[in-house]
Amino acid sequence: MQAGSGPKVRIGLEVHCQLTALKTKLFCPCSSDYRASEPNEKICPVCFGLPGTLPVLNAKAVECATMIGLALNCTVANRSLFYRKNYFYPDLPKGFQISQYDKAGGVAIASSGSVEVEGKRVRITRIQLEEDPGKLTYEGTIDKSSYSLVDYNRAGIALVEIVTEPDIGDAREAKMFLERLRSTIESLGVSNGELDGAMRCDANISLAGGARVEVKNISSFKEVEKALNYEILRQRTFSGNATSETRHWDERRSITIALRSKEEEQDYRYFPEPDLRPIVMEPSAIAAVRKAMPEVADTKASRYVNDFGLSSQLAKELAANKDLSAFFEACARLHDGYQEMAGLMVGELSANATAAARVVPPVEFVGLVRMVESSSITRAQGKEALREALRTGRAVAEVVRSKKLSAVVDEQAIAAVIERVVSSSPGALEQALGDKKAFSYLVGQVLKAEPKAQPGIVAKLLAQRLRES
Ligand code: ZN
Ligand code: MN
Repeated sequence: MQAGSGPKVRIGLEVHCQLTALKTKLFCPCSSDYRASEPNEKICPVCFGLPGTLPVLNAKAVECATMIGLALNCTVANRSLFYRKNYFYPDLPKGFQISQYDKAGGVAIASSGSVEVEGKRVRITRIQLEEDPGKLTYEGTIDKSSYSLVDYNRAGIALVEIVTEPDIGDAREAKMFLERLRSTIESLGVSNGELDGAMRCDANISLAGGARVEVKNISSFKEVEKALNYEILRQRTFSGNATSETRHWDERRSITIALRSKEEEQDYRYFPEPDLRPIVMEPSAIAAVRKAMPEVADTKASRYVNDFGLSSQLAKELAANKDLSAFFEACARLHDGYQEMAGLMVGELSANATAAARVVPPVEFVGLVRMVESSSITRAQGKEALREALRTGRAVAEVVRSKKLSAVVDEQAIAAVIERVVSSSPGALEQALGDKKAFSYLVGQVLKAEPKAQPGIVAKLLAQRLRES
């Protein structure tokens, strides 16, 4: 179901992002690298919530949260506070979560930012630092499980929670916003969104006139679009009145299920955390963080458009991938065929650029680009050589030689193929006359008949053939 076919949808997101770049948890010296550990192995009296312990703030976490705030155009507070968010649940060993709060005298570390997604502004309400709860594992599904297991390795991991205003209009916009957010945060080097559960999302959804429903436990950004589409459809179908409640996204069944009526803020009994001092960030400290900050994906993409003349699509794809853009910049120091270079890279090397760069170092990659530029091989053959080199670990030049890759540039040979294609699809020529799409289709047909033909020559000869007919 598409937006616009019913009451207006308003979606606000709460994104929890683990600061995976940190070596230790937010308030204790436990290792934050818990993913390969046995349950309850990476815990200590502080994160296990034993009485009499005191939290000590990880200064690096403050720096990371400040960077995220600045990158999302927020105002960073000179003085922010930790609050206790009280609730009783087995994933929370202390019975409260140390978090931040922006009401009743509370101040979060950053607030009032915005992110642009395809020309639309999504306002960021606030960014707060808080600790991750432990992880519960259920037998089967959450609503039918007869018991659950708890692992506190995750308890106390540093999280940044990013809260948006309800400015998002549908599931597709939500997905784009999250992708944008993820590439920004990854380019800061503070979090690796590829790690399981490192970026999680809760969504508040309301249809005009209806109550606000919160969907929790969306474990990855991939699931967000599905969960939102389901929930919007559910509210449209079952309305009258959606009730204000918290629902759980069940990944396996691809449905949301009711968990509980929605907590109100007063249920959490927020109050200032007496065991931690305020976070003080002098303007000079904020300026220092800003200065040392890595370039974020957006800035990088526009630099690629301006400095290298890349198409904005290629620039965006490159800039969103930290390793790939580093590889691109290394190659750009050796050769100025930027567009061809970027085009060969994106897609073929995107998946694991660092490993790819070991097999195909910049010098060799540039050599391959030159072969394509001089028409000695086609772009498709260039990609084929890259894939083969990555698969086998052999040098690209050697792959080109041994597979005897070479473009057909002989105009007579290509003209013969064109004749064959044209005569086997009568009418195609007339259609291509003045119709760009039909023309490209015809070029494609010729390349299908002779994949080694140099596409530029095919297009040129085909255009000539059209003028003659
Ligand atoms: Zn600990
Ligand atoms: Mn939170």
